[in-house]
Amino acid sequence: MEKYIVSARKYRPSTFASVVGQTALTSTLKNAIATDKLAHAYLFCGSRGVGKTSCARIFAKTINCTNRTADGDPCNECDSCRAFNAGSSLNIVELDAASNNSVDDIRALVDQVQVAPTNGRYRVFIIDEVHMLSSSAFNAFLKTLEEPPSYVVFILATTEKHKIIPTILSRCQIFDFNRITINDMVNHLEYVANNEGIKAERSALGVIASKADGAMRDALSIFDQVAASSRGEITYRSAIENLNVLDAAYFSRLVDSFIECDVPTALLTYKEIRDHGFDSHAFINGLAAYIRDLMVTREESTRSLVDTDEATLKLMSEQASKCTPTFLYQAMSLCNDADLNYRQATAKTFLVELLLIKLCQLLSPSPIFSGDGEGQLKPIMSETSTGADMTATTTAANKPASTPMTAPNVAREPRPGVPAPDISRPRPTRRPILHTVSIIGNRSSQQQQEATPQIVNAPPLRESPYTLEQLIKAWNEYRDLDLTKRIVYNTMRASKPVENPDKKHCYTVTIEIETQREKLEEEMPNLLKFIHDKLSNDHITFELELNDGPSSPSTWSEREIIAHLSEENPNFKKFVQALKLSLT
Ligand SMILES: [Zn+2]
Repeated sequence: MEKYIVSARKYRPSTFASVVGQTALTSTLKNAIATDKLAHAYLFCGSRGVGKTSCARIFAKTINCTNRTADGDPCNECDSCRAFNAGSSLNIVELDAASNNSVDDIRALVDQVQVAPTNGRYRVFIIDEVHMLSSSAFNAFLKTLEEPPSYVVFILATTEKHKIIPTILSRCQIFDFNRITINDMVNHLEYVANNEGIKAERSALGVIASKADGAMRDALSIFDQVAASSRGEITYRSAIENLNVLDAAYFSRLVDSFIECDVPTALLTYKEIRDHGFDSHAFINGLAAYIRDLMVTREESTRSLVDTDEATLKLMSEQASKCTPTFLYQAMSLCNDADLNYRQATAKTFLVELLLIKLCQLLSPSPIFSGDGEGQLKPIMSETSTGADMTATTTAANKPASTPMTAPNVAREPRPGVPAPDISRPRPTRRPILHTVSIIGNRSSQQQQEATPQIVNAPPLRESPYTLEQLIKAWNEYRDLDLTKRIVYNTMRASKPVENPDKKHCYTVTIEIETQREKLEEEMPNLLKFIHDKLSNDHITFELELNDGPSSPSTWSEREIIAHLSEENPNFKKFVQALKLSLT
């Protein structure tokens, strides 16, 4: 019975010609060997699975081969080649620096370097993951690396070139390995499938290749896994089910809903995807990649950048022809913003749903999310929609212009009978909506600094001039927005901000009782947001101080006022008693 060998091993390249996706690099190496211009140290850089170690082994075999092919590849037949292929050649020494990174390991290696080859011309020392060497090991190695015996070639390999110290870099000839393209991988997988007598749809191999993320070794392992459970026939469906890959059909359906400005379908499709257990962040990236593919599918010249089967490509071309480049660009940009904001967002599903709603608005005749922020507000769901919890419908007339409708708990409808805040003031420059969500509330300069590394395009803080009068006006406007919040209303009516002479844009608010202070503190994020937007100034802050002294008449209730007046003025008391006045 034939022994089963995993494909990653069985199809490990044994010649430069069989290395997948590194043609330029292998021809340079072959050329160096043919012209006998060998460096004594090479550094192979590139992500995992791109063929660094394979190339190093082929290189070692080739420079010792006594009968190289016309193409500059090893013959695989001479004594040396056979010893290499059997793993018995003494002319190749491999050290995995990830697990052997001590000074002693390097000293042992340096000792071996002194031994000349008994047969063959060169001894090749491969140090894998060389960035893992300790710094003392590096130092112990430097001198040997600088002046090795003439029969020695070092090949250092690393996935993290930036961790290699300059003294090593300057002593090596550097080769940067490409990520292996999907196309190259699919071709190679097709070759392997044919060799193994397995029927495989090219689109299925495409799914396997994208899952492998640039690493050929992984692609071959995944291929084995799918082949094992597909009973000799790998189909697109079996591949996506086996690998739990999100079907591109979902993205196609979503883009249709964006084109038709169909928010309900977009949200329901997203729910279906979540119900299948797919991660929302992966979903955003998948959607972004799909839209990017649509973009390059629009042009004949760039169509080759999409690697998929003919049928899918045809469907994508049809869909792409319905999209303008501007739409696709804006959609990509929105996906990118959502990707950047994802990690910070506390409400991940909300962030994705917001993204989908925005995408559905891009082609709407009067988009909410137009770039200038001046677009008329349009219902995002149909008026007759029964989805009561999604009725974010509103109109410009009864909406405070500067209240961002997307920030949770911030947007509030003015109460009947309460005048809408002044909307004649020029709108502040619209800032990216997602940022108002993530840094809602007190945009103090300190918080802004902390947030900066993640928020790549955070807008600068606004600092427009304003007067105390305008500040008080905005204060009162906010107070009047929701008359049902009695405590907040009363507190804001009784206590007005007073300029802090020591701190610019800082105002002290003196509060009478602890409950009031708590309530106002709860309100603070929304209040600050409102004031900042009203006055186009993000520097304004409030300090709440509890009044230790006697309570001020401005906070008295009506009953207290009457009691006080009665105390002070006997006539008033008589007047109240005579008329039998009472407060009910
Ligand atoms: Zn040979």
